[in-house]
Amino acid sequence: MNAPNSDQYFVHAIIGDGLTAAAFLEYAVADHVDEFVIIGPNASQLGRGLAYAKAPEGASWEYAYLLNSPASDIDPEFKPWLEENWAEIERKMTGRKPDWLAAAKELIAKGDVSALNIPRQFFGDFLVERLNNVIDRYRGQGKKVRIVEELAVSIEKDDESYKIKTESGDAIVAHSIDVAPGGPKDQRMEGDESKFSAPTLFGSEERIIEHIKRGAEISCIGMNATMLDALRLCQSALPDKDLRFTAISPRGELPEPLIPDRPDLFVPELRGDHSTAISFLDDVKASIEQAKKDGFEQREIRAGYRAFFLEHGLANFVRDPEEAKFVPRTLRHWLRGGTRDTILDFHGLMVDGVTHVEKGAVREIQPGNDGATIISVDQMGNIQRKETGFVINCSGAGSSFEFDPLTNALIEDRVIDICQTSGGIAVGEGCATKLENIRFLSPATTIIGAEIMPMPLYDAHLLRSWVKRANGLKT
Ligand SMILES: Cc1cc2nc3c(=O)[nH]c(=O)nc-3n(C[C@H](O)[C@H](O)[C@H](O)COP(=O)(O)OP(=O)(O)OC[C@H]3O[C@@H](n4cnc5c(N)ncnc54)[C@H](O)[C@@H]3O)c2cc1C
Repeated sequence: MNAPNSDQYFVHAIIGDGLTAAAFLEYAVADHVDEFVIIGPNASQLGRGLAYAKAPEGASWEYAYLLNSPASDIDPEFKPWLEENWAEIERKMTGRKPDWLAAAKELIAKGDVSALNIPRQFFGDFLVERLNNVIDRYRGQGKKVRIVEELAVSIEKDDESYKIKTESGDAIVAHSIDVAPGGPKDQRMEGDESKFSAPTLFGSEERIIEHIKRGAEISCIGMNATMLDALRLCQSALPDKDLRFTAISPRGELPEPLIPDRPDLFVPELRGDHSTAISFLDDVKASIEQAKKDGFEQREIRAGYRAFFLEHGLANFVRDPEEAKFVPRTLRHWLRGGTRDTILDFHGLMVDGVTHVEKGAVREIQPGNDGATIISVDQMGNIQRKETGFVINCSGAGSSFEFDPLTNALIEDRVIDICQTSGGIAVGEGCATKLENIRFLSPATTIIGAEIMPMPLYDAHLLRSWVKRANGLKT
């Protein structure tokens, strides 16, 4: 960022209220900043965003959704926070369905609470507490911190500053801006919004619960983290034995559970002379196979690769950037992992005939009088029809990303670019955009300066690390 005149009253705005926006505030180079303005619909709970949101108090699914990795992998400061707040967490989790404390009892007995997949809402509590301390620190330094609980709708250049328009028509003048609006929208599917279907899990819980309680079979399109959250929602509403739950995806594969097994992470050893993505991926594949032979589990392999790639960029191994761009789409499948508790429950409940997996590429959902029909195509190209009680579209963003309106405007104005290979967002060194003093980072970012992200940024630790780097801090 360019240095301002020393006599200028300098306003730095942050657009977004999630973990990335929070990291931009926490790691800001703030000496020259007189005022921070944080703009987001839930900006007074800065850090929660979509992923670590609060459920309505008293809802059966309060605290049902879990982190997808052990707490120790998400943030080094979360471990001491957990230990300090454990008694309160235990109190809040007592008597809940599914019985998270019972599943966790072995690790709790060992005092190893940071190895647990903690309810995401608690991680949100931790983030909000941390950010309130950051805000207090800035205020203690005499800076102003203004919270604007609205969506930003546009950014206009105005001589030496920018004018950010909000939904209500207000205009906020800022000299520099960090934009962190979150990932792309979930892809829609024909028939996914009806009496017997929901286009997304989050925000539809109350309606879905009614169908779970009437004993309807719940079918999820997609077998990812959101599907696992949908199973937890079901388990929060009815005893496991009374559920009927099906997940459908083209591959019909559950993610591998991320279970910490040993204190050391896998350290890859890769050759640095690959001329193609395929040759590099072969090298990675051999290293993962060797790691498994040496007794490393998916969690140690995934976290090991994440640490390795933070230290050594992909360009060190695949010099041609056009080739390197083909790496992430394969690597993300190999390094995929998910919430241990729910994946183990899913497998266990399959034996009892409660959960089912079906293979198929879903084309359409047809609502009926007392349920819905899912139309899919199997691997042989045959059309399949499945009658079910209620359908949740958990298929995620898909491959052709659809962004929020502000991101779309920035793309249209060529302030940020789209990578034609990944469909993700490309920004400059330090998350710079083409407009001076505006930076951008979201989980959909796939290129930062000369670095091509080998693993998706849908990961709290990676996002925070890239914000740190953008502010010249070591990761
Ligand atoms: C349901 C879910 C569960 C996840 N679980 C994990 C996990 O267990 N571990 C992990 O490491 N990662 C997880 N992730 C990945 C997650 O994307 C990142 O960890 C991180 O939370 C992303 O933060 P963010 O701030 O970039 O985006 P978000 O959390 O999406 O926050 C962006 C916020 O910006 C706001 N916004 C958007 N547009 C505007 C605008 N124009 N003006 C103002 N505000 C705007 C949105 O309302 C939103 O609240 C999960 C993601 C999701 C969606």
